Amino acid sequence: MHGADEEEEATAAVRGPRVSVASTQTDSMAGQIPRLSKVNLFTLFSLWMELFPSTEQRKKSQVKKSGLVVVKNMTIIGLHCSSTDLHAGQIALIKHGSKLKNCDLYFSRKPCSTCLKMIVNAGVNRISYWPADPEISLQNEASNPVTTGDAKLDAKAVERLKSNSRARVCVLLQPLVCYMVQFIEETSTKLDFIQKIAKSQPDFNTDFYTACRQERIKEYESLFLISNEETHKQILMTIGLENLCENPYFSNLRQNMKDLVLVLATVAASVPVFGCFGFYSSEPQPTNETCHQGLPQEIARHCMVQARLLAYRTEDHKTGVGAIIWAEEKSRGCDGTGAMYFVGCGYNAFPVGSEYADFPHMDDKQKDREIRKFRYIIHAEQNALTFRCREIKPDERSMIFVTKCPCDECVPLIKGAGIKQIYAGDIDAGKKKADISYMKFGELEGVSKFTWQLNPCHPNAVEFHDPTMRENGVQKTKSIDDQQHQHKKLCLGHY
Ligand SMILES: [Zn+2]
Ligand SMILES: [Zn+2]
Repeated sequence: MHGADEEEEATAAVRGPRVSVASTQTDSMAGQIPRLSKVNLFTLFSLWMELFPSTEQRKKSQVKKSGLVVVKNMTIIGLHCSSTDLHAGQIALIKHGSKLKNCDLYFSRKPCSTCLKMIVNAGVNRISYWPADPEISLQNEASNPVTTGDAKLDAKAVERLKSNSRARVCVLLQPLVCYMVQFIEETSTKLDFIQKIAKSQPDFNTDFYTACRQERIKEYESLFLISNEETHKQILMTIGLENLCENPYFSNLRQNMKDLVLVLATVAASVPVFGCFGFYSSEPQPTNETCHQGLPQEIARHCMVQARLLAYRTEDHKTGVGAIIWAEEKSRGCDGTGAMYFVGCGYNAFPVGSEYADFPHMDDKQKDREIRKFRYIIHAEQNALTFRCREIKPDERSMIFVTKCPCDECVPLIKGAGIKQIYAGDIDAGKKKADISYMKFGELEGVSKFTWQLNPCHPNAVEFHDPTMRENGVQKTKSIDDQQHQHKKLCLGHY
């Protein structure tokens, strides 16, 4: 996954007070757009992986589900989450084995001693975790008389393992650059996913996005933050972070965590759960082969949000694009992601090894220079294919998620690589712009295309698509009401 900037390894790795003071964004800000640092991107991915939709019914237990990102040389090589039987750390060990040597692991919760001892044993370089409730929940302990004490004992064991190991076990958070959240909000409303819904709304409004975002914020704050400051302090003390309990470190840490949760919620809402919108194929399915069957909507949406997160690492200040490739094994694995496994990801950027400043960075007024940019920029799909960590197997269902319509340069690459499915927006499909064209996507055959649209099989969708119905004011209003009613119901449900 990657772009040109081989940025220095983050300097914010800390066990103590420096967490919110010494850390700075190491990225070049020459493009003057707010970007996510790699460390923050990995952290956000770990939180997001904890939310990977699961069909398994989780039993009420003191072990909390956890998300995990495995990073080698600053590139993601694994995305995992706990399953019913196994913890995320155990899954990483099964999937990567001794290849975990020198990797950096980002957990959405501090791992338990069972996971930590095996990971440390595999020779990882660094283990970073989100400083809220750990995998063996301390938050629930007080209310669970049977297990009282177990979580604290485990926390002690984790501390002993940590102090005796070569691997650094730390909290790795960086403050966001200014206006990051506002920038995400603004850019989100311009996306295919929001635009298509807005067109179906009275007066083309995007209020539904604000509503979805509020829902997400509430939900993720309750999952990833600890509302009560005292409880949070108690947990930090138990997991060996007593030096973060003093102010200003404590309040800075909480603010930093809150901001990241806000980013996650804002990005997640940009591919909203709304009415009958989703990723559907407009063409009749070519065959009954499983290779061409679409994913469940919540999984497709989850992967698209991953691509959206990647887009905020772009080096192209005008349009950030993210792409991520997943594939599915023949049989269900032990991972919380089911049979799905991560193949590669990328965002649009200048070639690796080049200086960011070597290429023209043009604004909208410099149209002729802008044309030149497209001779240099590596597209998100191209980076995802180049820096993939697994082969694309011809007999497996492989899929790429791209935040906008793949261009004519990328469509033949995706097909040639043997990818079976494309999930994308298609507002640009069929368009020819000065420097980039999207003519090939519509004609592409042999690769299934799932584009963001109203479910074509849903009766309401027919009303929306039929132009004669649009002229009928009564019909139209009614269907919008239905739509909003549906929206309310869906928004209340868990994502
Ligand atoms: Zn564990
Ligand atoms: Zn392209």
